[in-house]
Amino acid sequence: MNIKTVSQQLESVVRDVPDFPKPGIVFKDITPVLKDHKLCNDIADTFATRYKHLNLDAVVGIESRGFLFGMLIANRLNIPFIPIRKAGKLPYNTLQEKYDLEYGNATIEIHEDALKPGSKVVLHDDLLATGGTARAGFKLLQRLEAQVVEFSFLIELEFLGGRNLLPPDTPVFSLLTYQ
Ligand code: AMP
Repeated sequence: MNIKTVSQQLESVVRDVPDFPKPGIVFKDITPVLKDHKLCNDIADTFATRYKHLNLDAVVGIESRGFLFGMLIANRLNIPFIPIRKAGKLPYNTLQEKYDLEYGNATIEIHEDALKPGSKVVLHDDLLATGGTARAGFKLLQRLEAQVVEFSFLIELEFLGGRNLLPPDTPVFSLLTYQ
């Protein structure tokens, strides 16, 4: 299954929901993707094939939709999955990173012992929009002295320029890009 075919199938199944969660936002709803187990397998295989020779130590996924495929990818690679969660959800000692949203701000966390210094990881989320979430995740991983070898997304809204918030020397891979 080549990347282009999987990307086209993803595009045909993702549902646009206008004005959610607020007016002017077109929400990319991936719940129809989750109902298609063959497509889910093809998506996870596409990422796993891409990463299988990188000797990764873990896949890190961002709550909550980053957990869905992040876990599948890690499982295929036989490596740990590490969750980054919204503030107050992780039970053990955490590092926190606050970041700006369009209105207000948010905080995400990772367990302080989630990764050993020098660990090679991919940082995965379902969607790259303005980039604030991924950048905050990257900062947490930097504080743990992990090495992010790639940012990985199912979907990128390129017109929002999220890549510009991410470090220029770290690759960004998106299976499906809206220009
Ligand atoms: P950002 O920090 O702006 O890059 O936003 C990324 C996070 O918000 C991801 O975790 C996405 O799940 C979610 N998100 C932002 N915009 C959308 C959108 N248009 N459709 C679906 N999810 C979105």
